[in-house]
Amino acid sequence: MSRRFVLPAHSEAGKLFGQLGRAAAQTTLDFLFPPHCVACQRVGSLYCPHCLAELPFPPINHTPSSPLTLHIAAAFFEGALRNAIHALKYEGKQRYAPLLAARLALALAQTDYRADAVIGLPLHAERLAWRGYNQSALLAQALAAHLKLPYLPDAAQRIHNTVPQVGLNRQQRAANVANAFQAVPNQVRGLHLLLVDDVATTGATLAACAAALKDAGAASVCGLTVGVALYHQASLDLP
Ligand SMILES: [Zn+2]
Repeated sequence: MSRRFVLPAHSEAGKLFGQLGRAAAQTTLDFLFPPHCVACQRVGSLYCPHCLAELPFPPINHTPSSPLTLHIAAAFFEGALRNAIHALKYEGKQRYAPLLAARLALALAQTDYRADAVIGLPLHAERLAWRGYNQSALLAQALAAHLKLPYLPDAAQRIHNTVPQVGLNRQQRAANVANAFQAVPNQVRGLHLLLVDDVATTGATLAACAAALKDAGAASVCGLTVGVALYHQASLDLP
């Protein structure tokens, strides 16, 4: 009888081998099917530096009546950027996270906001289990690594599994996510935080999470999203 040595998938070594295996598989796939730029189809990267640099930055939104100090977006939610976010969010293309995080860092560099740590907009545990990963957490983690700032994965939770915001108007969106979040005071007290999400439409979800972070003692919260809806102008100023 042969004995097989199997690493438990949840052990640190198991995770490492899983990551190495996925990285090797990805390298092989890149060799067989090299990535193409989502915008110009040029071979070599997922989003080539030329096309990424062409994207205009949306105006920075100063939001005095919101729990957010300001909201910064890396680009308008349209065209190839929309495809890249969609690939990260729905198609499991987690390799887009570092690329989009680099663009987030460029957007942030337009301001003088000095952050102490980075948080991803939390998903409710049930939705996380269903989807398997939180795209906002991936972006936040990649951004924290890029900026050499601490990433706080457990500083905030989504305690209510709200219905999706799609199809709701601005007031309904704000009501839907009010009190949906809670934050951990001893992780956020006194800190200036970057709160990262993939896309903002009215900013209601970002504002609700920022409110929880400020209730827990955060000094300030800057919302940072990859995309922002085109009809977003000034809509972050929630009553
Ligand atoms: Zn390109």
